[in-house]
Amino acid sequence: MPTYGYECRPCGAFDEMRPMADATATAACPQCGGVARRIFGSPGLRTLNPDVRRALDASAKSAEQPAVVSSVPGRSRRPTPVTRDPRHARLPRP
Ligand SMILES: [Zn+2]
Repeated sequence: MPTYGYECRPCGAFDEMRPMADATATAACPQCGGVARRIFGSPGLRTLNPDVRRALDASAKSAEQPAVVSSVPGRSRRPTPVTRDPRHARLPRP
């Protein structure tokens, strides 16, 4: 059963799974019961967490338009933490 996206003006977007025969241009909002109009897009992306969406957009932009740098980025000011755990001494070194 396909998922259809609807948007209620005051409440926002929501998805509904319906048979294709019942795909209508409007649906009842599950929160306020008002009329929600159908919207088109990728299912699941409309309700994506904004932080995750920004990260995905940044990743896509980096793939299509990578930032050009003219020099190697400097070292961070934070020193590399040194472990004192004796088990770590047995780990392979770079
Ligand atoms: Zn609503």
